[in-house]
Amino acid sequence: MIKYGLECDKGHGFEGWFQSSAGFDTQKKRGFIECPVCGSINVDRAIMAPAVARTDKLPVPARTARPDAEWVSSGTDVTILSSEERELREKLAELRKEMTKDADDVGDEFAEEARRIHFGETKPRQIYGQTSFEEARELIEEGVDIFPLPPGGEHN
Ligand SMILES: [Zn+2]
Repeated sequence: MIKYGLECDKGHGFEGWFQSSAGFDTQKKRGFIECPVCGSINVDRAIMAPAVARTDKLPVPARTARPDAEWVSSGTDVTILSSEERELREKLAELRKEMTKDADDVGDEFAEEARRIHFGETKPRQIYGQTSFEEARELIEEGVDIFPLPPGGEHN
């Protein structure tokens, strides 16, 4: 018998005993393996199988951190409820200034220009500009190094 750490598609972790690795596959195919938390039969072996003592509360493993484009959002205003807000804003504006100092403002041509630079169709240089969330995601998927600018107070 083999003990496997399992995880359903909702991220609930649990354990199961199986005859063999093939036994797991067969049972899974037949839908016999069910998440004890939500009843999902969309279950797979968890990457990590920590030896945890059985308790009433089943351990829920943390989702694997995946680099994705979630952090690229346009116009998201963060509310900071403290007196440090002003100082932080100034620092961000400074950082933005620093990042755009030697860069060309290409406006809404950003995605196009970033691609040209990435694929070597034009001289490499620092640029900044505006792009949509979808475009930013596409650029990241294509391997273009882009970075969201910190919010800046006034526009230069
Ligand atoms: Zn579940």
